[in-house]
Amino acid sequence: MVDSDILRPARYINSEWNAVHKEWGETVLKVALAFPDIYEIGMSHLGMRILYGILNGKKDVICERVFALWMDMEKRLRDRKEKLSSLESAHALKEFDIIGFSLQYEMNYLDVLNILDLGGVPIYSAEREDDSPIVIAGGPCAFNPEPLADFIDAFVIGEAEEAILEIVNAVKGEGLRVNRRREVVLKKLSEIQGVYVPSFTNPDRRSGLVSRSSIGMRPAAITKRIVKDLDAAYFPADIVVPYIQIIHDRIGIEIMRGCPHQCKFCQACKIFNPLRIRSVKRIMEIAEESVKSTGYEELSLLSLSSGDYPHIEELAKKLEEKFKPLGVKVSLPSLRVGTFEEYSGMDTLKRAGLTFAPEAGSERLRHALNKKITDAEILEKSRAALSSGWRKVKLYFMIGLPGETDEDLDAIIDLAGKIKNVNISVSPFIPKPYSDFEKEGMESLENLKEKQNRLGSRLRAQGSRVRASFHSPEIARIEAALARGDKNIGKVILKAWEKGLRLQAWTEHFNYNLWVQAFQEAGVGPEIYLKKKEAGESLPWGFIK
Ligand code: SF4
Repeated sequence: MVDSDILRPARYINSEWNAVHKEWGETVLKVALAFPDIYEIGMSHLGMRILYGILNGKKDVICERVFALWMDMEKRLRDRKEKLSSLESAHALKEFDIIGFSLQYEMNYLDVLNILDLGGVPIYSAEREDDSPIVIAGGPCAFNPEPLADFIDAFVIGEAEEAILEIVNAVKGEGLRVNRRREVVLKKLSEIQGVYVPSFTNPDRRSGLVSRSSIGMRPAAITKRIVKDLDAAYFPADIVVPYIQIIHDRIGIEIMRGCPHQCKFCQACKIFNPLRIRSVKRIMEIAEESVKSTGYEELSLLSLSSGDYPHIEELAKKLEEKFKPLGVKVSLPSLRVGTFEEYSGMDTLKRAGLTFAPEAGSERLRHALNKKITDAEILEKSRAALSSGWRKVKLYFMIGLPGETDEDLDAIIDLAGKIKNVNISVSPFIPKPYSDFEKEGMESLENLKEKQNRLGSRLRAQGSRVRASFHSPEIARIEAALARGDKNIGKVILKAWEKGLRLQAWTEHFNYNLWVQAFQEAGVGPEIYLKKKEAGESLPWGFIK
């Protein structure tokens, strides 16, 4: 039960439109999909929608949802000594056979621990009993699994929809929670391609291979799972429609996976390689079905770079013809500057603000990043967008990039100053695993602040109308240490959680001083994870291919 002193109680009720309720029978396998951030974020996530549909499509599987709690609801549960339970059937997490976490952002790691603890599941993998749930995690952050290796039983590397049924079958094959031997299940999971089971798999950072000594397999790398054919892959049309507004409160149809560009700082293009395209015919089928089964009046086309979708004009035209008469709006959220065109379907698109990501202020630095966009293109496309009805242009930049000079920073202000209605967003560069810059170092806190100050004072000196928002260098440094960490970072994660830190992806909850204390008390220095890697130095994630 929730009552009126809980913020947004609709986060915790269930029975939303299209939510699936199955009978909690003894013979069905129970999976809790856990998202380590609040309802409004998790419900917007495409991967959750896909896995929920695939698993509930199986007769002998129940799949339910659980999200991180806001502070007020956590306090309520702890005060009452109640367990965190799934939305659909209100069963405590410890009663499930599998708990599957989606790891989208490193700053959510503490919420993984918190969800387990609130749900009555031992935090450490080694402390779980035969009848404890098997705790699995996937998503982009699982590409460096080591920071969470002490807490997660098995990681799925790559696109989980490709492996999920093999995992479910392996777990079910060994009997349900109360009858199985945990060790046997984990061993079975370690034999599945793309699955890393820390207790059964020994990574060798030097060779980049793992040995699964317990099952006598030859050393090999863990290779990611990928969906080969997007048209043949499952895509959910009957998604759960929430009672409250969520971050992406609309139908989201993935039109392409991967990205044809290879920007050197980009982790996503490497993780989601190779490029795969969904056909216009299939997208139209999904769109029609989705509008019918959800009642949403807004549809968005998703991919890393929608403007590069090869049939974008044909698709925009067909969507406009089909949905404009029905009053359904279509939006393209992710565009590269070089691909912005005035599609015929523009009349149906949202016009509040269009975002471009030049990333660096100067053409020189952009070229070094492999982001081959000229100033002239950015200015021309911004002007075209503003004159065709977009009210604002938002430009994303990074600072602290390898090879960056003061001139590159000044070029951000010069470029933005040439556009009429523009906001800029400036984030510290993080050298993430798998990007071409994975061996680069992270800029120091002092340098990042100096660079932010330089940009701020140049804007003020020019009396510029450009509005700028700066992302916290402290958050970026912690995020970088978690992203690039090894097993030792797990001690810091545990300390930070014990100090009461929660929801660190939310700036109002982020507490840098407590993080610094957590590092000190764990006896771990963040610098070893943030510095530039030496030539030949092995990487914690080197065994994942
Ligand atoms: S930054 Fe964007 S355009 Fe560049 S590779 Fe990544 S997804 Fe593609």
